[in-house]
Amino acid sequence: MEPTTAMPDLIDQLRGCGITPTKQRITIADVLFQKKQHVSADQLLEIVRREDATVSRATVYNTLNLFLNKKLIKALIIDKSKVVYDTNTSIHHHIYNVETGELTDVSPEDLGLSELPQLPSGFEVEGTDVVIRVRRTHST
Ligand SMILES: [Zn+2]
Repeated sequence: MEPTTAMPDLIDQLRGCGITPTKQRITIADVLFQKKQHVSADQLLEIVRREDATVSRATVYNTLNLFLNKKLIKALIIDKSKVVYDTNTSIHHHIYNVETGELTDVSPEDLGLSELPQLPSGFEVEGTDVVIRVRRTHST
């Protein structure tokens, strides 16, 4: 990938979050933030390696954790073996296709949560993330 005019912005954005913009972090951020997407660490590793074959699995994992700590991305735990990183950090829910693994964003306005269970005393809601798991109907 040739350097784009978006690059200086990306470097500024990383610096603004207190992240030292190393070459590999910039490559990872560039791939990750190109579009709103949901990716696993392995999917990201595969795409990043097309840009820079020297990027290690550990670097991708460490960078994802760093971005997570800085709230540049969100992590979605689909099940215990599958963590998906989400570049859309606004509050939203998901439809998860259990057959294809595809995730689709659902805006909070489209999912009414009319009632929440009683919270333990001394706690408040930090966030509510709903994953609606779907599969194709097999009727007819
Ligand atoms: Zn999402």
